[in-house]
Amino acid sequence: MEYIILSIPLFFLLMAVELAWSAWHGAKAGLTRSSVYRFNDFVANMGCGIGSQVVGAFTKAGIFAIYLAVYDHWRLFTLPSTPLTWLLAFLLIDLLYYWFHRLSHEINFLWAAHIVHHQSEEYNLSVALRQSWWQGLFSFWFYIPVALLGVHPLVIVTVGAFVTLYQFWIHTKAIGRMGAFEWLFNTPSHHRVHHGSDPKYIDRNHAGTLIIWDKLFGTFQREEEEPIYGITTPLQSWDPVKANFHYWGDLLRWARQTRSWKDKLLVFVKPPGWKPADLGGFEGPRAKDRASYVKFDTQVPRAMSLYVAVQFTLLLALTTLFLFQQQRMSAWMQWGMAGLIVLWVMNLGVLLEGKRWPLWSEGVRIACTSLVPFALIGPVGFATMAAAILFIGSFLHLVLVFRPPVRMV
Ligand SMILES: [Zn+2]
Ligand SMILES: [Zn+2]
Repeated sequence: MEYIILSIPLFFLLMAVELAWSAWHGAKAGLTRSSVYRFNDFVANMGCGIGSQVVGAFTKAGIFAIYLAVYDHWRLFTLPSTPLTWLLAFLLIDLLYYWFHRLSHEINFLWAAHIVHHQSEEYNLSVALRQSWWQGLFSFWFYIPVALLGVHPLVIVTVGAFVTLYQFWIHTKAIGRMGAFEWLFNTPSHHRVHHGSDPKYIDRNHAGTLIIWDKLFGTFQREEEEPIYGITTPLQSWDPVKANFHYWGDLLRWARQTRSWKDKLLVFVKPPGWKPADLGGFEGPRAKDRASYVKFDTQVPRAMSLYVAVQFTLLLALTTLFLFQQQRMSAWMQWGMAGLIVLWVMNLGVLLEGKRWPLWSEGVRIACTSLVPFALIGPVGFATMAAAILFIGSFLHLVLVFRPPVRMV
């Protein structure tokens, strides 16, 4: 997990390069806005990524302890730390990743977690960071056999981080076809297909690093026309909390509504699209009409976008601080900060939807944020000054932004 946190500056640098590429590309085509990035979509993607890192901060030690317990007590062999072991671990973890990812698309309760990664209707590097908050809790089970075989947990988490990091650069439209490299490796072209909602692209190309698994198990699809990105029923929200819970809500609702006891359970293990017979039965993916298809969008005043941009920058600073200092914080402080970050990402998303109710929710959030300097440094003059600047500055800015009527388009 640390590898991913340490890579964050590189992620931002590459996103800036991609944005510059899209601006240059767009200018050539006479566009005034980026055809690759939209601010609201970007903030929603980052909100999901931030939340997944915060949840990961609480779960990664437990997951490592489980790998270690399996390795210590039940391993079948003791594999030495040689290049061959690393290669074997990589092949095995990449293969298990393929199956975890494939099943995440084929079983409803796993899809409920993985769906988050697919909700964006854009395709850019920030989509790579759009991660489910619960995916780590569902995926780690798949790698337990690697510990059982005698691969040390440190090797497992390092290779696992590599497979995750590898997938960052493939979330881009900036790179076209890659010749012979595409025969073996997962590439932007292969992964664009994976994010497509067109029927022929759905549930294809589940690979992490090596595309060979899709070719071997019959799930490979070559990129033909550019996909329509996203899920078949768009989320239509920028709220990361909704993004992470909405499909669970759907599953629970269907389980409650159906009269068949068997179907109440089957809802969770059947593939996406399946519904109990008394709720309409299976509904396969329908092709979106390219001519009439419009991406979800909202327009808010420029002042609101500026407010969100400023608060988003503060959120990034606080999240970085949390991720690096978490070990030294008391339990109540860790949970308090995590709760604050979740409230923060939710508010920014909903503000970009043009809704007015986040005014009070943001008020609460700003008041809580201004307590952070006291919690971190103690009741000293510097903390008071920082708290006052945060509180008065943010609150005044929020009130000023809310003065004009907020339009929703
Ligand atoms: Zn997927
Ligand atoms: Zn992806």
